[in-house]
Amino acid sequence: MRELLKRAIPHLSEQECDKFVAYYDLLIDWNTRMNLTAITAPEEVVKKHFADSLAALPLLSDGAKVVDVGTGAGFPGIPLLIRRPDLRLTLVDSLQKRIGFLETVLRELGLTAACVHARAEDFGRMPAHRGTYDFAVSRAVAALPVLLELTVPLLKVGGKSICFKGEASQELESAKSALFLLHASAETVTVPADYGVRSLVICTKNAPTPKTYPRKAGTPSKSPL
Ligand code: SAM
Repeated sequence: MRELLKRAIPHLSEQECDKFVAYYDLLIDWNTRMNLTAITAPEEVVKKHFADSLAALPLLSDGAKVVDVGTGAGFPGIPLLIRRPDLRLTLVDSLQKRIGFLETVLRELGLTAACVHARAEDFGRMPAHRGTYDFAVSRAVAALPVLLELTVPLLKVGGKSICFKGEASQELESAKSALFLLHASAETVTVPADYGVRSLVICTKNAPTPKTYPRKAGTPSKSPL
């Protein structure tokens, strides 16, 4: 495991390596009792969960306030926090059971993040969170127009929503109206990967989000912008 980690993640310290190993062990153990991931082989987890999550690392400024929307088993948020404990991270998921797993991982790894059990639609309307984040990150949660409605309201003006995607050009095309309505703009960066096309769609919030968004829980996916 340590060899795989060091090969896939450049300049990994021994301490960071220990944390990734402990995270892997907890993931595999808890996965026998709850559905956390279909990917379990060490080399696959290292590549497709850990290294993949770290693609956003160069974009995150020192001490940034970051929210991971639909974090599931902690991707991409926890790998990012292992390498960048300076981040002020909030992990959000609508499944309570996963929050229990995330709290255990953070405690065992000696990391600090807030874990919130909420639908992103409700979370984005809470005054304590709306318009307060420098970055939102999200992976495998929803199609881009839906994801933008869930994440952009959480950002400060100038903040960025970093959406982990595969081939993104079609999704970007379908997100034009969401970008317009949410006062955001987007660019795509391709991430080198030997297991298919990986890209980050980086959406910048250019002005405050109209009060209408996000709409009530379930509406963004039923009726995307
Ligand atoms: N981001 C993780 C990853 O890349 O492995 C998890 C992906 S999993 C396919 C999607 C996750 O998003 C699930 O844990 C689900 O509970 C969460 N989710 C989906 N819609 C959500 C919403 N509206 N609000 C909060 N969480 C949501």
